[in-house]
Amino acid sequence: MDLTLLERTIEELGEPAYRVRQVWRWLARGAASWEEMTDLPLALRRELAARVPISTLAVVASARARDGTEKVLFRTADGKPLEAVLMRYRDGRRSLCLSSQSGCPLTCTFCQTGRMRFGRNLTASEILDQALHFRRDERPTHAVFMGMGEPLMNLDAVLAACERLPDIGIAHRRTAISTVGWLPGIERLAREGPPVRLALSLHAPNDALRSELMPINERYPIAAVLDACREWWRHRRRQVFVEYLMLAGVNDRYEQALELAALLRPREAFCVNLIPYNPTDAPYRGSSRRAIDAFRGALEERSVRATVRLTRGREIAAACGQLAARQPLAAVAGG
Ligand code: SAH
Repeated sequence: MDLTLLERTIEELGEPAYRVRQVWRWLARGAASWEEMTDLPLALRRELAARVPISTLAVVASARARDGTEKVLFRTADGKPLEAVLMRYRDGRRSLCLSSQSGCPLTCTFCQTGRMRFGRNLTASEILDQALHFRRDERPTHAVFMGMGEPLMNLDAVLAACERLPDIGIAHRRTAISTVGWLPGIERLAREGPPVRLALSLHAPNDALRSELMPINERYPIAAVLDACREWWRHRRRQVFVEYLMLAGVNDRYEQALELAALLRPREAFCVNLIPYNPTDAPYRGSSRRAIDAFRGALEERSVRATVRLTRGREIAAACGQLAARQPLAAVAGG
């Protein structure tokens, strides 16, 4: 729901401001319609129903993978596409993957989102409406800003959304913002905003290779970005998750693991998450399971904490880096 429009409408109707909080409470608990909000006077509910849509987003299509992962394609009121994903785990975790922008202005070579046209920043309400959509069916426990877009290029809206996620049941410590290394954003996040987690998409152990994979590295090179992460760690006292995509023959050699290990000091400030590559139109191959395990072993040899990410929803193109809102949605609609 467009919360700014809601506030303005409540004010125009001469209703007390607490009505806004009442409505939000219903939404955060999964209400899907105005009718459900029974502690609002009927006449007010009718008036609001005519003036404020229940969501800023329309569902265009959805797909569900065998592992329970669900991807939804939405459209904003001005027609911009975006996708969000709910991952269901056996241990009961329900993790949302949220988009912060429609498309992405950055052009990481391995990422499908970077190939679609950049639309615009999403508003805080458009970010929250992704979460509220899934909340109507069940209660999400975690959220990661790993959908479309670069969250730190839209930090005001992302932070405003983060502030409200706990009402939906997602605590700050279970919320992670993932970034290409947008330096001013990391610096700001070190000093303000709720105590969410930070993930850095590094993917290469030196500037030459990183610039090839992620053009943003020309603007914000590794040393500067890692300095900002250390600053974040000093202020927040939480480790930074370093995401490292495993590309066969590109960044997965033993020496590259050692080069990476040398960058990550102090050790306790970082934890590496090795990500199996999910297929896109780009000409890469993912590293073999053996190569990933060997890389992880090399990091651990140097006392760097490392884990391997579980891939979810690959068959419906819902996995990391696959969101591009271009599936003709045949795979979709109840599929
Ligand atoms: N712009 C932010 C968040 C969106 S991308 C960022 O870059 O961190 C979320 C994660 O998916 C990033 O770590 C990104 O590098 C990774 N990713 C992109 N393409 C991928 C692919 N094809 N396979 C696996 N991970 C990918």
